[in-house]
Amino acid sequence: MSIASVTTPQQPISLFSRATLASLEKLYLADTRPWIVAFSGGKDSTVVLQLVFEMLLGLGERATKPVIALSSDTRVEAPNVAAYVATALRKIDEAAKALGLGLSTQLVGPTATESYWGKLIGKGYPPPSRWFRWCTSNMKIKPSRRAIDAITRQHGSVILLLGSRIAESTQRGRTMQEREINSRGLNPHHEIPNALVATPIADWTTDDVWEYLVSNPCPWGGNHNFLVSLYRQASGGECPVVFDLNTPSCGGSRFGCWTCTVVKEDKSLQGFIRSGEDHLQPLVVFRDWLIELRDKPGYRSDVRRDGNAGPGPFLPLARQEILDKLLDLETSMAMPLIGDEELAYIQRQWSDEFDFQNRLAVEIAARYGRIIAMPDAGQMTPTAEDDLLEQAAMEAGIDPDLLRQALDIRRKGFPSLDKWGAKAQFERAIGDLLDKAARQAEQTIQA
Ligand code: SF4
Repeated sequence: MSIASVTTPQQPISLFSRATLASLEKLYLADTRPWIVAFSGGKDSTVVLQLVFEMLLGLGERATKPVIALSSDTRVEAPNVAAYVATALRKIDEAAKALGLGLSTQLVGPTATESYWGKLIGKGYPPPSRWFRWCTSNMKIKPSRRAIDAITRQHGSVILLLGSRIAESTQRGRTMQEREINSRGLNPHHEIPNALVATPIADWTTDDVWEYLVSNPCPWGGNHNFLVSLYRQASGGECPVVFDLNTPSCGGSRFGCWTCTVVKEDKSLQGFIRSGEDHLQPLVVFRDWLIELRDKPGYRSDVRRDGNAGPGPFLPLARQEILDKLLDLETSMAMPLIGDEELAYIQRQWSDEFDFQNRLAVEIAARYGRIIAMPDAGQMTPTAEDDLLEQAAMEAGIDPDLLRQALDIRRKGFPSLDKWGAKAQFERAIGDLLDKAARQAEQTIQA
């Protein structure tokens, strides 16, 4: 079924989705682990959440363990998509409360130190590229992992419900088929301790997904017309809630960041603009300008932070110009694009590096009517290790996510290389990691 042919008949739930519902119910009743449903607002995660909602309704008082719909907001989401997800979460929460379901929602996001503007304007990072993709781990993985860790600490372990489907992409399908699943269809998450993963619509086709969405009323009220129109308007793939780096790059998807410089062309925003959302055009212009700045002479230091020659961070004047233009854009579009805490973090960073009178960012913000209250420095300091790791990656010109993963492999998989054969195995694991990163970069180029 193509998206263009979608209509909204009200049909009874199909036998196929009944079978998925029945297995979900069995899984739910099998233990006391809370469920976390990864909800990006895309069609696949909407189907999973809707099935879970219906299952809870059907279970009534037998439903006793908590279910959390977890979403992430990078703070630089396409504004219309961010508004859609926020509204959907509000409706889900309200409906769940009114119906007495043990379902709640949680929207997570990066701290100021992890945010796009914190890194780019505060620390002078170049806009992310496919080789230096510092954004995903900071803006998506860390915030969602913090939320999962907090739930796991409280309950001992969790089950993550993902909307991944085998038919979605060849690579995804292969990875899913290679998983080791237990008799209940669960597999341990390879990076998150005490988390089991369930993929209830793994065997669904894209047609099944649309069929279900257009044939079944939305249980939290309203309908999926806006979701359908989102898919009609913007091209690109799905961008799930990202828990780990095995998820392919989200750049180029409908649900990516408006600032995404990892892909050549932002198909999502362009699609929205083509279908009439002209007011978003200035965002595209700004994003293209950021890409130009990446290699523009005079904008980046000639010296890396370690003192070696090579493109370093944005220079102080460049960072001030970017902040000024961003606030100008925010004012002209009458749309919030940067938060107060991010502005405060930027001032703190500049004060540490070059603005010894602690005033440049404050003054630029004030020109646009933004008054920054400076919190304690301790509230916004990233962990020393994270900072060092990102700095080292930046100096070496490699992706910090990749370095983080390599370190994880060494720490968790090979705490000692003294054992016979350990060194060779470790080298193979690093080789596999590099192959995977190259494949992902390739996919991003094609996106
Ligand atoms: S959409 Fe682009 S900028 Fe945003 S996290 Fe994904 S790769 Fe990074």
